[in-house]
Amino acid sequence: MNDIMKLDNRLSVERSDPGRRAVRFNNLLKAKEAIPAGLARKAPPKLPELSELDVVRHYTGLSKINFSVDTHFYPLGSCTMKYNPKINEEAAALEGFANLHPLAHDKTSQGTLEMLYDLEKRLCALCAMDAFTLQPAAGAHSEFTGLLIAKAYFAKRGENQRVDIICPDSAHGTNPATASMLGFNTINIKSGPDGRVDPADLKAHLGDRTAVLMLTVPNTLGIFESRIEEIAEMAHKAGALVYMDGANFNALIGIVKPGDLGVDIMHINAHKTFSTPHGGGGPGAGGIGVKRRLEEFLPVPRVKLEGGTYRTDFCCPDSIGKVKAFFGNVGVLTRAYAYLLMHSKKELAQIAENAILNANYMKSRLQSIYPAHSGDYCMHECVLTPPAALAAKGLKTLDIAKRLLDYGFHAPTIYFPLIVHEAIMIEPTETESRETMDSFVDTMLKINDEGAADPQLLKDAPHTMPVKRLDEVQAARQPNLRW
Ligand SMILES: *Cc1c(COP(=O)(O)O)cnc(C)c1O
Repeated sequence: MNDIMKLDNRLSVERSDPGRRAVRFNNLLKAKEAIPAGLARKAPPKLPELSELDVVRHYTGLSKINFSVDTHFYPLGSCTMKYNPKINEEAAALEGFANLHPLAHDKTSQGTLEMLYDLEKRLCALCAMDAFTLQPAAGAHSEFTGLLIAKAYFAKRGENQRVDIICPDSAHGTNPATASMLGFNTINIKSGPDGRVDPADLKAHLGDRTAVLMLTVPNTLGIFESRIEEIAEMAHKAGALVYMDGANFNALIGIVKPGDLGVDIMHINAHKTFSTPHGGGGPGAGGIGVKRRLEEFLPVPRVKLEGGTYRTDFCCPDSIGKVKAFFGNVGVLTRAYAYLLMHSKKELAQIAENAILNANYMKSRLQSIYPAHSGDYCMHECVLTPPAALAAKGLKTLDIAKRLLDYGFHAPTIYFPLIVHEAIMIEPTETESRETMDSFVDTMLKINDEGAADPQLLKDAPHTMPVKRLDEVQAARQPNLRW
């Protein structure tokens, strides 16, 4: 940021100048008079008083200091911050979708119901599952829904002793968290030196108390569970179900169908794989696919097609019920649908191929300086660590990540997965060009040189951001939540 672009960082309340006004309309609605006396405010609210131009500059300024996929390379591992085609936005904004009342009768909702029905069918085909629900609002919510389904399944079979969920230590953090939320015991198993589940260790933990084996595929090391069929068979022999966290399905789409590998329940993250702007807590959409024997437990309502007409069906006696109002985040689902319609079968496979190619390209260019956790090829993301020479100077992953901001890059995911000390987890996604990846790699190499020559430069980074390095310890110990 050069000086001329320096922004006025004050909050709108700090800019306030009593009496300053934007455009005023005549009080045509007589709103004040319409409010019953007892309910009216005694004193006016303390809102900032600004001119219209002040307001425009304030918000335009704020929008310019945002990092977003539309402005910056955003290699945030596991989050799939890829380009979101603008045509998805057009589709979701179509009047028929966007303005449909959620309580509208089936007869007047045929378009939306057809879209949801067809999206379910397409996801079933891509995942080799028999039925899908689109209700969950995100990945973690999908896991919650999936484990509720597993619970209902075992309850109906009278197998209530199945209270254990087995999670490898390379699972996404939401997996054990979800298991605990539902009252299951989480059994953590260690991954082998290659970053994969060790079948011998798994065998030692499987038994008639095991409800679900929960696998993140690819796992958080960016590695494919290559013995998944054998592992799933072991779980099935023990009477357990296999759950696959497929949040990062863009690494597998068009190439791998989890249902063919023995997976019974899986989720996808529509906002990641099928491109909806996400981050900062939402919005998202999950989606749970199940095998036939679990279909009766899916949430209601389901969309049915009868005699050429779509109908919402609430009559599923063994359903776990509702997990979200109406059909979930339909806006996100519409974007996912538009994205799927835009790509042929072959192109969907190219998405996964390019996601994998890009991550391996970056890994191979960086790993001589930033050692990789695993020597194997990775899937859609790679996990690296800081150069030993920088670590010897007391520099941490955090210092490297902060310095990247000065060069106009969003930092990768850091300190995750937890099993890798000082992890730097890079997910370039399939939508980045070679030039962008090269410029990021060159910057990482430059930062290594800078750290060797002047460690303090990295410790004090970022130098160019409106907010400099925060004292994270103080922020946690003495949070100042009011201005
Ligand atoms: C992102 C992610 C999740 C959580 O998804 P949310 O939509 O953020 O709840 C779960 N598992 C994996 C592997 C993920 O990458």
